[in-house]
Amino acid sequence: MDRASACGAEGCAFESRRGRNILKPRRLSIPSFKWYEIYAMISLATPIQELKNVGPRNISKLKKLGIQTVRELLWHFPARYEDYRDISTIDSVEPGQKVNIVGNIIKMAIRQIFPRRMIIVSAIVEDDTGRITAVWFNQPYIANTLKEGVRVSLAGKVTLTKKGLQLSSPTYEKINTQYFEPQLKHTGGLIPVYPETEGITSKYLRFLIKPIIDKINIPDMLPGTVSDKLGFPDVSWAIKNIHYPSTLSDAEKARERLAFDDLLLFQFKALLERRKINQYKSIPVPLEAELIKEYISKLPFELTGDQKIAIYEILKDLEKSYPMNRLLEGDVGSGKTVVAAICALETVHRGYQAVFMAPTEVLANQHFRTIRNLTYPFGTSVALLTSNSSRINDDIYKKPALKKLISEGKADIVIGTHAVIQKDVKFNKLALVIIDEQHRFGINQRKALVRRTESVPHLLSMTATPIPRSLALTIYGDLDISIIKEKPKNRRKIITRIISPEEREEAYNFISSQVKNGRQVFVVCPRIELAKKEEGGEPKKQTKMDSIWAEVKAVQEEHKKLSGEIFPGLRVAMLHGKLKPKEKQEIMADFKNEKIDILVATSVIEVGVDIPNASIMMIESAERFGLAQLHQFRGRVGRAEHQSYCLLFTSSGMSNTRLKALIKHDDGFRLAEQDMATRGPGEFFGIKQSGMADLAMASLANVELIKKARATARALLKDDPSIKKLPLLKERLDQIQKLVHFE
Ligand code: ADP
Ligand code: MG
Repeated sequence: MDRASACGAEGCAFESRRGRNILKPRRLSIPSFKWYEIYAMISLATPIQELKNVGPRNISKLKKLGIQTVRELLWHFPARYEDYRDISTIDSVEPGQKVNIVGNIIKMAIRQIFPRRMIIVSAIVEDDTGRITAVWFNQPYIANTLKEGVRVSLAGKVTLTKKGLQLSSPTYEKINTQYFEPQLKHTGGLIPVYPETEGITSKYLRFLIKPIIDKINIPDMLPGTVSDKLGFPDVSWAIKNIHYPSTLSDAEKARERLAFDDLLLFQFKALLERRKINQYKSIPVPLEAELIKEYISKLPFELTGDQKIAIYEILKDLEKSYPMNRLLEGDVGSGKTVVAAICALETVHRGYQAVFMAPTEVLANQHFRTIRNLTYPFGTSVALLTSNSSRINDDIYKKPALKKLISEGKADIVIGTHAVIQKDVKFNKLALVIIDEQHRFGINQRKALVRRTESVPHLLSMTATPIPRSLALTIYGDLDISIIKEKPKNRRKIITRIISPEEREEAYNFISSQVKNGRQVFVVCPRIELAKKEEGGEPKKQTKMDSIWAEVKAVQEEHKKLSGEIFPGLRVAMLHGKLKPKEKQEIMADFKNEKIDILVATSVIEVGVDIPNASIMMIESAERFGLAQLHQFRGRVGRAEHQSYCLLFTSSGMSNTRLKALIKHDDGFRLAEQDMATRGPGEFFGIKQSGMADLAMASLANVELIKKARATARALLKDDPSIKKLPLLKERLDQIQKLVHFE
């Protein structure tokens, strides 16, 4: 196909909506060099504005899709394919079918229907077996392109009308008979359908991409020996075949190779990060088995096997003279705190300091109490430093005084919110940093802590997000992982039920009876939906304050209802983001001391809160929460031997797939798998921001591919530690690094 006809067919289709006289053919500027010369000059780095047919308006639209260079254009992969592989003969088509036909135009007509001002272009197309009419609505420019005598390929759906069979608004493409084999980009074979945005259609993307991939030379970042060994095609083949495969299995092969590239880069990044960490010095904390046994024997319960293994793994890391970088993963209520506490005790015993960082004030306070109780027999000094409290053991200090004591090493374990990583907090001999619920902290915060001191402290992060190990290796490839799967022995399965509006009464009675038996209750409600639009005006922008207010309001209303109408005889309190930190602390302390029966709260109680006597988690409008969050809420109960219940109040009584999954599985790891399958791992783990490409993200379930990528990265790095022999790969790595930095 030559340039002029390509533009005639396509260019006009995009330019003509601008309200010019659309019936008049657009004048084409004929470039001074031939099309093949232009495409030969294009490289991956070419900015898209240098491409023909990318006008200023499209540049910004393409940018929205993340496309600014030819590379990004070619790496914008189809979401699926339309299958037009078989060319049908006209006599064989039937209504309802999607078909691809090839024939000659024997008659064109254009007419206007007045009442509706609709313009209809119709073409009668003939092949050896028959004729069919194709019609297009309000696209008069088509008549400029498709003329009588032109050979054309049409793809679309067949409909039956009064006048017989028709193809309505088919995709069309002129076939230049000068070529023996038509190279079709919109109508023949498997046609790519791209993720689109407003104003950028798949057709337009095909129009941009196809001529480039036919001509461009794509340098391969993966050495040929490696792809051969792994049975992967080279990158040029992969790019061609992900856009225009001959078969779906070729498309799959291409996709796998390209996903591999992304996973490989991720593994490289992780290994390099790890190598960097291993070069730092940190304080070795020698393990003293007898002492650990003593700590464990003083606990009020017996540790699970997994807890013991985790403690051992962490203590073994602490012995090393380079920093630990370990993730402790365990479902809600699996007992991570005690594991961390024992490791902190060992650190203190050797004369060093440990920091324990929690994501919220409420949690920092709770950890302070827990750790204080646990370490009391050993004379450990435990400090609490949040925006609102500063104390060591039972002594309250002014903040500057406390910070001074910390810097002099007078506090052994320092517990706090992000206040503890502020620059003005100095330590005397910090050896261990523990970060609870690490997914709540940004990577940068983690780094801030690491950069603080001369010797880099050992780092233990803890999370209740149950990330399958293979996935964790990819996302957090620079971490070692300990997993607690086993629940403490005293636990019973939490009974989870959906409560329909008719069952409310009964459920409230049940709650009363539980309270009469001495148990306590959490109530969580979603924020009240704010009006999305102001009267007749622009959509209202929601600020963070707005959403806090929306939560507070919901809690206040629920509190009023429960304390006034439903449980007038019970002690009902509320906890929300508008309370002062001190008020929050008092309420949590009262709840812990059983002075409150029912606590109505916002999602602040989502993480970490530990009230073993609470046996009911009641969730209002449960259908409005995500699965991971619901599972976290449920984890607030069932933390001791009492039979516990999670009551999912719904407004319709209907259950959705999430609620059904929640009832079926009480194991967070199983739920994670389920949720990942429906929402994709990126959404579930909130790692959209990790700089990982969509394709790699989609391949996270492909454990084999991840393993291959890991092994390959290892081998390549071992052979070539400074990545001198792989300049293209190095370049890609640097690009990713930049991306991650700007988040
Ligand atoms: P999470 O892993 O969610 O942070 P916590 O550390 O808060 O869980 O522990 C939940 C509760 O289980 C706490 O009350 C803790 O004292 C208790 N616990 C921890 N380990 C055990 C165990 N092995 N046996 C019984 N109870 C335990
Ligand atoms: Mg916890």
